[in-house]
Amino acid sequence: MDVIKIGKFIADCRKSKELTQEELAEKLYITDRAVSKWERGLSLPDADKMLDLCNILDINVNELLLGEKIDMKNNDKKTEELLLEMARQEEYKNKQLLINMWVLGFTAAIAYIAIEVLAATTLGEGVPFGIITVIATAIFVCVMFYDLKLEIDAGYYECKKCHHRFVPKYKEVFLSMHMGTTRYLKCPECGKRSWAKKRMTRE
Ligand SMILES: [Zn+2]
Repeated sequence: MDVIKIGKFIADCRKSKELTQEELAEKLYITDRAVSKWERGLSLPDADKMLDLCNILDINVNELLLGEKIDMKNNDKKTEELLLEMARQEEYKNKQLLINMWVLGFTAAIAYIAIEVLAATTLGEGVPFGIITVIATAIFVCVMFYDLKLEIDAGYYECKKCHHRFVPKYKEVFLSMHMGTTRYLKCPECGKRSWAKKRMTRE
């Protein structure tokens, strides 16, 4: 999505409705700063304001997200393109998250082993080594908790029985058996347990 183009489009539509930024903001119960940020391409309207904004500007949501007026004949095609583009962006974002998860996991594991080996060879057994081990283990566990969150945030798990894709709760994932990112999870759709594979998109 091109935020600059969307911003210019909002500004053009607002002006053609002969509204100031303040007047538009007032109609949406938001600050004129927020409107100004949209128009400069610094942010997008929140989802819960989009419909009201479109109504006021006499445009539809597709037009808003494309940043241009759509000929009604092409509307379906444009919608399709837009959905595809959004799916592609989601897939890309999820892949990045998953890569971050692997990198973070490996780095933390290697760092942990390195610290332990280094501490054992320089300090030998004893109280200082014990303290370092406790601290290093605590940090490692925290990093792993966070790493699991990255895995959950990166896309969906697909039920092997009904192929429904879902995002489970942290606790369920935490307690599940797994092989890599394939996890033994209960499907919220069919209620059966299966080895659910990681998928980057909802469809
Ligand atoms: Zn299922």
